[in-house]
Amino acid sequence: MIPSENFVSKAVLEAMGSVFTNKYSEGYPGKRYYGGNEFVDKAENLAIERAKKAFGVPRANVQPYSGTPANFAVYLATCQPGDTIMGQALPDGGHLTHGWKTSFSGIFYKPVQYHVKADGYIDFEEARRLARENKPRLIWVGASAYVRQFPFKEMAEIADEVGAYLAADVAHISGLIIGGAHPSPAPYVHIITTTTHKTLRGPRGAMVMVTEKGLQKDPELADKIDKAVFPGLQGGPHDQTTTAIAVALGEALKPEFRDYAHQIVRNAKALADALMKNGLKLVSNGTENHLMLVDLTPIAKGHGVFAQEALEAAGITVNKNTIPLDPSSPFYPSGIRLGTPAITTRGMKEPEMEKIAKWIAEAVNETKNYKLPAEKAEIGEYVKKFKEEIKGNAAVKNVRENVRELCGRFPLYKGM
Ligand SMILES: *Cc1c(COP(=O)(O)O)cnc(C)c1O
Repeated sequence: MIPSENFVSKAVLEAMGSVFTNKYSEGYPGKRYYGGNEFVDKAENLAIERAKKAFGVPRANVQPYSGTPANFAVYLATCQPGDTIMGQALPDGGHLTHGWKTSFSGIFYKPVQYHVKADGYIDFEEARRLARENKPRLIWVGASAYVRQFPFKEMAEIADEVGAYLAADVAHISGLIIGGAHPSPAPYVHIITTTTHKTLRGPRGAMVMVTEKGLQKDPELADKIDKAVFPGLQGGPHDQTTTAIAVALGEALKPEFRDYAHQIVRNAKALADALMKNGLKLVSNGTENHLMLVDLTPIAKGHGVFAQEALEAAGITVNKNTIPLDPSSPFYPSGIRLGTPAITTRGMKEPEMEKIAKWIAEAVNETKNYKLPAEKAEIGEYVKKFKEEIKGNAAVKNVRENVRELCGRFPLYKGM
């Protein structure tokens, strides 16, 4: 139930494992440095056309190896090293590449970070003030752990006021956008980046798109992005991934995908409601997308690791995560993050969410007598001992049996 993960179709798997992996294709369709690219050109052009259609944008680059290099390409195309940039802080749900100090984005550029409020919503007052004071050249909107709809319009007002480029990083929600289950950033931002392996349900890869608004701000912006991806940052594209992106986008443009995207959100809302009914506290008291954050501070600060490990023992994979204004540290955060894209792909619906929520609450309840030692040096040993004990816990074992039975009824790749 990690919200950034999903299960791809057999067609996407086949494309990834196809003979396209054997080829070198530096350059772009029709302008390659190698011969023998007739079919690679067709696949890449198909991926580009489908990306343009899916997002309603005039230009798309489908070559980035993954989300992080895609975002790096945006910096290369819009900024000089040392320029000021602004993004949502990592502990507030933002991504490493939006200016966090240990990432290239915080090393080569001067980052300014905005935050979310205790209620989980982005603090616009702060974002506007920081933009006015620091005049960033590039502003990011988008995150990896944000439970509300992204405020593209509001962030555009801030970016336009200070003349910044605005890039929407929709890695998590691109499938929801294509399926009509989340508003599109296309009318408001200059650039859109996305991974292709999260809600979009494609291969591990990424895309950078330039909007009409982006071309109006800078008619050369899309060419600059292309140059930033290759030769700026990468060599030969991964043609098997490009082909699989074309396949995934083809699937995402089908009417059934709209049902899938809306079901992800319905499932998330059902899961969130049921978790709260079972006594767990959620950041922002719910969700408007595919993910939610359980705030474990009513049990103890820094409790995420215990919930993660108890759920792992119960057969439910989640990740510990910071919550807004986390009283603990990013390595021992006070929450867990849960998402519905993968279980929705397996065909689960609202009745299953009710069951899963009950099981999650039961497993988390078994962690109540454990507490992170105040002494840092003792934490490793304590967590190790906890893992052993929780594996043998009768209630957790019971949940594990239930999870196994449920998964058996919603198999992956039937008949494979
Ligand atoms: C997942 C993610 C990325 C990076 O993706 P990788 O493929 O892991 O490099 C970038 N931005 C956001 C918001 C993400 O959630």
